[in-house]
Amino acid sequence: MSKKKSWYFLAAVVGALVVAMVSFAVPNPTSAVAGEENGYYGKKAKYVFYFIGDGMAMPQINSTEIFKGTLSSSDPMYKEKLSFTVFPHQGMQTTHSTSSFITDSAAAGTALASGHKTANDVLGVDPANKIKYKSMAEMAKEKGMKVGIVSSVSLDHATPAVFYAHEASRNNFYEIALSMSDSGFDYFAGGGLLAPTGKKKDRPDALEIAKQKGYKVVNNQNEIMNLSRNDGKVIAIQPGLANEEAMQYEIDRTHQLSLADFTKKGIELLDNPNGFFMMVEGGKVDWACHANDAATTIRDVMAFDNAIAEALKFYAKHPNETLIVVTGDHETGGMSVGFSGTKYETFYNKINKQTMSFEELDKKIKAYRGIVGENGANLQDWLPILAKDFGLTELTAYDQQRLADALAQSMLDAKKRTKDEKSYLLYGGYEPFSMTVTHILNQKAGIGWTTYAHTGVAIPVFAQGTGGEMFQGYYDNTDIAKKMMSIMGVKFQ
Ligand SMILES: [Zn+2]
Repeated sequence: MSKKKSWYFLAAVVGALVVAMVSFAVPNPTSAVAGEENGYYGKKAKYVFYFIGDGMAMPQINSTEIFKGTLSSSDPMYKEKLSFTVFPHQGMQTTHSTSSFITDSAAAGTALASGHKTANDVLGVDPANKIKYKSMAEMAKEKGMKVGIVSSVSLDHATPAVFYAHEASRNNFYEIALSMSDSGFDYFAGGGLLAPTGKKKDRPDALEIAKQKGYKVVNNQNEIMNLSRNDGKVIAIQPGLANEEAMQYEIDRTHQLSLADFTKKGIELLDNPNGFFMMVEGGKVDWACHANDAATTIRDVMAFDNAIAEALKFYAKHPNETLIVVTGDHETGGMSVGFSGTKYETFYNKINKQTMSFEELDKKIKAYRGIVGENGANLQDWLPILAKDFGLTELTAYDQQRLADALAQSMLDAKKRTKDEKSYLLYGGYEPFSMTVTHILNQKAGIGWTTYAHTGVAIPVFAQGTGGEMFQGYYDNTDIAKKMMSIMGVKFQ
């Protein structure tokens, strides 16, 4: 061969090799193995944890780190990392629904569970209620994995429900409750059910139907703690629930089981040779943020973090086959590290003295109203309680005026209260005095709030373990489900 010819020959060989390599590397879409269509070709995860902090975005996380720092160090600039904020892979997700830049939990949950966007209020189906969107939990079950759904709010609430139900409205609680036992999932735990016998309480009890379908239903603390793998499919409900069939706010919890307890028990029951999928929702972060109560929010983020720590203990034993994904479904409250009144400073130590949630304060106000009546309220009666249970001592004249106005409103029967733009902006439909107490306290700490609803900001995503690298970058909430399905080896539908 001449020198020129041999160059041509070499180029042809290299060219053929490149073509061969490319055709090996790019899978034919029609023949892709389940999961590979989303660009994940690695080892499949056998154990998958999906932690969803409802209403939890960077301000809630950041505030918890600052607050924990004030508890553990005298250095005012110390921030303590949470168990998941040190995960090696981090990204960011957009959360808009098909109907709004500000999603609700049903649309966001549908995206996070199934990879499909839908409208606000819609659960696991398209906005016209024609197509059912299959969730990764349903796919995992079909694949032979065990499935667990844990939530600190009621088990028929939007975020847990998107993993097993398909309804035109998130408020179809009875139908959702029936879907729970239809799912055949192995472990439901945390809160209760909002309408187990239907809206008119005239339907067969959904929990009795669950028992007929082979579920063991328990709501006694010892029975829950003594559950074993021999018990089969389980619905475990916290005894003595708080409002709306939810678990207590962490700040109010005394002897009851924690979200971490339910997570730990779930791991014990679900662990099996075919692997498992477990979704754990920190549902009351959202509720505390709707009510603009920072201390209650932060304590619930800490409880959520403790639940993640249980998954990390399992991960330590199975590091090469476990995936843990932590994210939120949307931000709630428009929470901010910073308030106009404190300019460039924050004082998170000021919320450390709060001993109860706004909901517990509501109860005290109601009891007081029962004693003094509509016109007998006196702010002076409340100053010792505000000092002891909220650490609120240095009240300015403006603070006292706001508190007195709110107290007067709180003494009225709900029907008699002022219902105008001003009162909504001040109290958001909550107990006026409670809202004013937490607003003043949060403002003194340098924590701001903009809404009693959700906001449309992007949400962080944290991942560790098998396939975790897939979560780097900035993507949509639907992509999280698709990525997780790829890593689990189930096919997005
Ligand atoms: Zn939500």
